[in-house]
Amino acid sequence: MVTEELFTQKESNNFCQNVLIVGGGPAGLATALMLAKRGWINITVLEQRATADYYEPDKSFNYQIDGRGQKFTDFLGLTDQLSKISVSSTEFFLTHIKPNGSRKTSKLPTINPNRKTAYWLPRKAFVLLLYQEIEKNWQDRITVLFSAKCVQINKKCINNSKQENLEVFVHTENGSVVTFEPYLLVGCDGLNSTVRNTLKEWDKPTSDKFEMKLFPSLSSCLRYKVLTLPANFPLVTSGNEHAVSTTAYAIRGALRGRKRSVSLGILPLKNPDEPRSANIIKYPDHQIWELKNTEEVYNFFEKAFPQLPIRQIVSPEEAERFAKSEGGYFPIPQYCSGLHLLLMHEQACLEIPQCSSAGIILLGDAIHCFPPDIGQGVNSALEDVYILNEALSQSNDELSRTLPLYESLRLPDTKALVYLAQTAYPWQYNQNSLGRLVWFVNFFLRLLLSRLLPFIFNPPAFFLIQNHQLSYQQIWVMVQRTTSTLYILSMILLCGLLALVLKDLVDIY
Ligand SMILES: Cc1cc2nc3c(=O)[nH]c(=O)nc-3n(C[C@H](O)[C@H](O)[C@H](O)COP(=O)(O)OP(=O)(O)OC[C@H]3O[C@@H](n4cnc5c(N)ncnc54)[C@H](O)[C@@H]3O)c2cc1C
Repeated sequence: MVTEELFTQKESNNFCQNVLIVGGGPAGLATALMLAKRGWINITVLEQRATADYYEPDKSFNYQIDGRGQKFTDFLGLTDQLSKISVSSTEFFLTHIKPNGSRKTSKLPTINPNRKTAYWLPRKAFVLLLYQEIEKNWQDRITVLFSAKCVQINKKCINNSKQENLEVFVHTENGSVVTFEPYLLVGCDGLNSTVRNTLKEWDKPTSDKFEMKLFPSLSSCLRYKVLTLPANFPLVTSGNEHAVSTTAYAIRGALRGRKRSVSLGILPLKNPDEPRSANIIKYPDHQIWELKNTEEVYNFFEKAFPQLPIRQIVSPEEAERFAKSEGGYFPIPQYCSGLHLLLMHEQACLEIPQCSSAGIILLGDAIHCFPPDIGQGVNSALEDVYILNEALSQSNDELSRTLPLYESLRLPDTKALVYLAQTAYPWQYNQNSLGRLVWFVNFFLRLLLSRLLPFIFNPPAFFLIQNHQLSYQQIWVMVQRTTSTLYILSMILLCGLLALVLKDLVDIY
């Protein structure tokens, strides 16, 4: 039996405190900040990397924090700071450089002036922004441990009772193993989540809800590597003209053919002293992945980009690193349908308000992951945190009510998000001309029809996603409705044509 005294002890041990977050990426740090702002204390974040702004050349991609992600930065009062370290979508200039050196700069068209301004910044700048907020304002509630890797999670019974607790083993920097016994364990540890994999093992005999379900898209499994270029790199051999940090570049290559053609995509940066990252995204059988050493890299790039002074902008060390790097592959769009687990607790405990069992919850890439086609990786992770905050508010921070509520609120969006990632814009990497053409016809048809008959047709999914007031689920329903209408109209058109042909045939004979 749980006595009043025991409850008081439990409450002070558990309620709104003793949280362990695995993963110090955007989702992990954002969850820590959200809980601290709600009044939770004793929050520990584990991050296996050495620092918040740890630089990994092949993970140096840029985020676009849109209105959806800003629901979280607004909640924390961070949007103003975000705007100061980012390039805004209203000031986004793109310069195309052709193989003959000709250049054209254009301003990215504003899709809808009523949408919130979005902000572009490197991943490490965004993670650092969240970490500095912790350091500045929440040190008394949040501890971030770097070089700390969660290696094992166990359930253990308390004194042979039915009550289960968590036990988490962590490898630390000095090689020692530290054990945590959190009340709430949060899995924000990305695609290969240790937390989700543990839940999958525990749940195996009864269900597969912690298994990722895969929905292959036309961009999944493309291979990528990042070439790091100096800040303000020269654009011509004379060294008279230099790249501008706040301008994006699309540098077209001279080589032709599926296995040889290549281009460089460089996103803008606010900080003029930061190195630039050129993304190279190609099929896994492309020649570029066969370059083995510095000289091969120079030879290939000089042939591919005759318009650029390659040896001036790619250092021998960077060429060697590029040749040796494994790069990465775009993930297949995927989600898992289990977003939480509540541990067993004494029945009596349930009868006492605010006395919950320990629980585990998953957010971010640990539950939904996809290629970067729709720019929603970080925004959806921040929206997960925002929804968790709403679930906590609606259930008075009681885990036994919050965790199922979070799952029921977020799972429909998670599924819709992955379906959208599968179809919304997978042809943007110049993979195949015919496929791209068909996709663009479909895209412009929807755009045109939505402008002419807005009450019947919705704009393409890629535009709808920019509207943060619509949930992913609402967007998916709108997209499907337009698809069905287009099918019905094409069938009517086809039947009409057939009828005409038949009538002509009848008239002839
Ligand atoms: C090539 C590429 C380009 C992308 N481009 C974009 C883009 O343009 N826009 C966009 O919005 N999204 C993009 N994404 C996706 C985006 O990076 C993710 O959606 C986003 O980072 C999710 O944040 P997260 O915190 O859930 O996971 P992550 O960013 O993966 O963070 C997980 C963290 O957990 C840590 N960790 C993992 N396991 C452990 C462990 N056992 N113990 C301790 N720490 C651990 C990791 O070191 C990592 O820091 C891209 C992804 C890729 C691969």
